[in-house]
This record gives sequence, structure tokens and C-alpha cells, in this order.
Amino acid sequence: MSSIVLFGPPGAGKGTQAQRITEETGLPQVSTGDMLRAAVAAKTTTGLAAKSFMDAGQLVPDEIIIALIEQRIKDDDAKKGVMYDGFPRTIPQAEALAKIDQISHVIAIEVPDERIVERICGRYTCGDCSAVYHDSFNPTSKEGICDSCQSTNFKRRADDNADTVLARLSAYHEQTSPLATWYDERGVFFGVDGDRNIPDITSDILHILVK
Ligand SMILES: [Zn+2]
Repeated sequence: MSSIVLFGPPGAGKGTQAQRITEETGLPQVSTGDMLRAAVAAKTTTGLAAKSFMDAGQLVPDEIIIALIEQRIKDDDAKKGVMYDGFPRTIPQAEALAKIDQISHVIAIEVPDERIVERICGRYTCGDCSAVYHDSFNPTSKEGICDSCQSTNFKRRADDNADTVLARLSAYHEQTSPLATWYDERGVFFGVDGDRNIPDITSDILHILVK
């Protein structure tokens, strides 16, 4: 069994790629956030332990998350490995993960910050029919008029402004760069140019995974 880890900054299309990798490789996606929520809802021993930390406004300790992963990778669908999404976030977590699962590939979808800002900040939606547009990539045919419903009422998300996006990206880089180095030293780190169309990125990732 060998598993993979997927990294990607917010707005880089990681969710889409995760879905395609799962379809192509059969590796189930393991999201620690989803697993935590499920364990809490199911009131398992681990879930209840996690809930006590969450209720106290504290981070769930690594041991609990690792215990959840250890259970998850015993499931039948995980026999060939899994794809981790949103984990590990720190080197101690990567070290703990290495003790229970073999990581063969760490794939980082790389997109320059300014391109992500451009992608996210140009987005707007029709306030009436929810059609999605983009200033540069997909504008309305007639300025200020929705193609689908002719509405002139548009919305932009307040947290889609450049400063907020840059702050999110800087937090991502701070968290990810030590991990990238750590995995690179172990020969399993692969960066993928994420500033291209979706099928090309998927194809690159799949090529890396058969190496
Ligand atoms: Zn509309």
C-alpha cells in the first residue's frame, strides 16, 4: 500500500483535481476535516475525545487525528492506499503519518499568487439567477447585463478582495513550505504547474503517480 498527499493553495483547483485523481486511481480521498466531523457526529470514542477539544475552542491534538486515520486506512477501499487532502499541515504530523502509512508521492499544485488573486477577485455572480462570471475570463456579453436572465443586479463576495486572498495565500505558503522541503528530502515531492487548463494538470499528476 502506498498513499499520496495533495497540496494546493486556495483557489488553485485542488478540489477538482482531487476528484479526478480519485476517479482515475481509485484511491479514496481522506479529508481529516470530514473524518473529524463524522466521528463527532457518530459519537465514537475518538469523536467524543475530539469534541471535548473543539468545544473548548482548542485544536484537536495530532494523536486523535492520527488515530482516526489509522482506523480509516484499515477500511477495504483503502487497501491500495489513500489520497490525503488537508493533512499533514505540520512536520510533526508528517512524521506521525510516516509511521502509520507509506507516502509515495506528495503532489503540490503550484499557481503564482498573482494569478490566484486574478482568478478569485474577478469573480462575480448574477444576484437573480446565480450565473457566474469573471472580469477577464468570462465576462457578460453586454457589460452589466446578465446573459442568462438580463438582470443588472450582480454580487461580489466581500472576502474575494485581493488583500484577503493574499493573506490566505501567505498563510498557506508559511504552512506548506517546510513540508515541501521535508518531503523533498525524502524524494517524494512533486510540484505541478497549476496555471493551465484542468485536463493538462490532471494528466501531469497521473504521469507523476505512475513514476
Ligand atoms: Zn442572471
